Amino acid sequence: MGVTDDRVNPVRGDSQRGAVLLDRDGVVNNPAFDERDQRFETPLEPADVELADGAIEGIRLLQSAGWPLAVVSNQPPAAKGKTTLEQLKAVHNRIVELLAADGVVIEEWQYCFHHPNGVVAELTGACDCRKPQPGMLFAAGRNLGIDLTRSWMVGDSGVDIEAGQTAGCKTVLIEHRDSAHRRIGKLEPDARVANLAEAAREIMQMSDSQAKVVTDDRST
Ligand SMILES: [Mg+2]
Ligand SMILES: [Zn+2]
Repeated sequence: MGVTDDRVNPVRGDSQRGAVLLDRDGVVNNPAFDERDQRFETPLEPADVELADGAIEGIRLLQSAGWPLAVVSNQPPAAKGKTTLEQLKAVHNRIVELLAADGVVIEEWQYCFHHPNGVVAELTGACDCRKPQPGMLFAAGRNLGIDLTRSWMVGDSGVDIEAGQTAGCKTVLIEHRDSAHRRIGKLEPDARVANLAEAAREIMQMSDSQAKVVTDDRST
C-alpha cells in the first residue's frame, strides 16, 4: 500500500543498480543462413548483417529507463576456421554502424572467440568466457560497475539462460524464428518473448513490481 509514482525506486538506486546484458545474434541482429551448416548462425560478412525486429526499440526503451547495457556474445567461427577474426571484427563494426544510424550506442561489448574443438590453435581450448560459462557476464558487470543479482540476461539460446542464471541474473528468452535449434532442453527463463522490444517491456514491468514488493515490505 501507499506506493506513489514519485517514490524512489530502490532497484535503480545508483549504488545498487543492475544492467541488462544482451546476447547478440538473434537479439540485436538476425542470424544469417550458413550454407555450410545449412542453418542460421552468426553473420560472417558485414553485408549479411541486419538488425533484428524490435532491437532498436528495445534498446531505446531500456536506455531511456536508465538501464546500462552490454552485449555478451560467443563468436567461435574463426576458431572453427570458417572465417577470420578480422572478418568477425568487420561484422561487429557493421552492427555498431547500423545501431548508430538509428542513434543507438552500446558502450560495453564482450566477445568469446574460443571454441573447445576449434582448428585454430590459439583460439582452441577450454575458456571461462564461452557461454554457458558466466565469464563475459562477470567482466561486463565489473566494467559497468553494476550488481549482477539486480541484472537481466536476454538471449535466444539455452546457453544464454544458463549463463545468466549462473551469474545470478534474471533471464528473458527471445524465441527468434531462426534459432529454435539453440533452445533444446529444459529452459526456465523468467519470461519468454518474441523480440527485444517485448523483452524490454517485460523487464521494466517485472522490475517495477519487484520494487513495489520491496517498498511494501518496508512499510509493514
Ligand atoms: Mg544468440
Ligand atoms: Zn572464451
